Amino acid sequence: MFCLHCGKEIGDNAPVCPYCGGRNSAANTKRELFGLLGFGLSLATIIPFASAFSLPALGLSITGIVRAKKQGSSMRLAIAGTVISAIVLIGNILMYAGVF
Ligand SMILES: [Zn+2]
Repeated sequence: MFCLHCGKEIGDNAPVCPYCGGRNSAANTKRELFGLLGFGLSLATIIPFASAFSLPALGLSITGIVRAKKQGSSMRLAIAGTVISAIVLIGNILMYAGVF
């Protein structure tokens, strides 16, 4: 791919351009994909009938954190997704435990 800032050819997964130092937002979005998916799915689980998705949302968010740690990229979304889906999951467990 080509740098959006200086137009030189750079690697698809380079987080910053080695020539001008400009951020490569496409690569950063790809790195945060799991965090983004986990965060999006965890937000959806707030809707009562969608709460079954809290477990996959938690899995995606944790994957996002692990990947962000390995790649040194931002993990804000992944952490937010983990927190939200964990709260929904625990809330559901408590709710079912109370009912039965
Ligand atoms: Zn550049």
